[in-house]
Amino acid sequence: MVVTPSRAGAPTMLAMVLEQARRPLAAQRVPMPSAATHQVLIKVLACGVCRTDLHIVDGELAPHKLPLIPGHEVVGIVVALGSQAQGFRVGDRIGVPWLGHSCGGCSFCRVQRENLCDAALFTGYDQDGGYAEYMVADARYGFHLPDRYDDAHAAPLLCAGLIGYRAYKMAGDANRIGLYGFGAAAHIIAQLARHQGKEIFAFTRPGDVRSQQFARSLGAAWAGAADAAAPAALDAAIIFAPAGALVPQALSATRKGATVVCAGIHMSDIPQFPYSLLWGERSVRSVANLTRADGEEFFRLAQQFDVQTTPVPFAMQDANQALSALRDGSFDGAAVLLNSD
Ligand SMILES: [Zn+2]
Ligand SMILES: [Zn+2]
Repeated sequence: MVVTPSRAGAPTMLAMVLEQARRPLAAQRVPMPSAATHQVLIKVLACGVCRTDLHIVDGELAPHKLPLIPGHEVVGIVVALGSQAQGFRVGDRIGVPWLGHSCGGCSFCRVQRENLCDAALFTGYDQDGGYAEYMVADARYGFHLPDRYDDAHAAPLLCAGLIGYRAYKMAGDANRIGLYGFGAAAHIIAQLARHQGKEIFAFTRPGDVRSQQFARSLGAAWAGAADAAAPAALDAAIIFAPAGALVPQALSATRKGATVVCAGIHMSDIPQFPYSLLWGERSVRSVANLTRADGEEFFRLAQQFDVQTTPVPFAMQDANQALSALRDGSFDGAAVLLNSD
């Protein structure tokens, strides 16, 4: 690893920095951030690697800030407080999610839909995230995490868990739920759904026997290829994979009245499909971001039973390898970057 030196004197930290899309992250020494009014300074212990990070690094999402430190599934310890930071003390563990700030005053914020805020700031996209030794975050958007999860196991809950949960809620009272793409989010939501007595059907890339076995090991009633006929019609489907072709496939696997939820921030184009697939009061919708209320609700549930989050650990400096492995789909579970002491 080549570490770019910073100017002498000012305190610095190691960070994995995106300087330009479609380039590997660069390991750099950068100035340590300091906590502004409502912020806390956090020593990062673990940071999950989300598919959204990959969309940012690969340039599938337009850059909001460059250079950028990605990462929005951050578990760390509060080491300093801004002058008006509330809810956390020095030494507390904190979880930092994707929603980093909302305006509080726009037409969405005023009706408890801060996930759609016109002026939202997202962690690891609009502001620097957790692929570093330290970061700052607005304490009002941080979470206290259930004690039963250690740092590596808690990290994937912060986006795969939270936004997965919001997508799961959009499936309403569906009992038979199809999950398309069995990665970090699906493997968490499958367990929650099973805990609530629902039936899970896992759809993976054709031939991906390993992921199908993984899904069955987590209680899926059936697992097969995305283009295979499921043994029964679905009440709802959640699409986690970024492939638009799955939308008509999922619709054709559902019964009347079903909802197909697109849970990702980016998806390839949806191919043309006959209206008959949508007929019968089926609906297709997306899920965007999260609210703090989603987070609080989800962590209350995650405290009640043991969600097995299957972290696949990488050293922080190996963030590029973790991103490549995610791009290739070469592991089950959730990649997590760990800082050594
Ligand atoms: Zn707003
Ligand atoms: Zn994410």
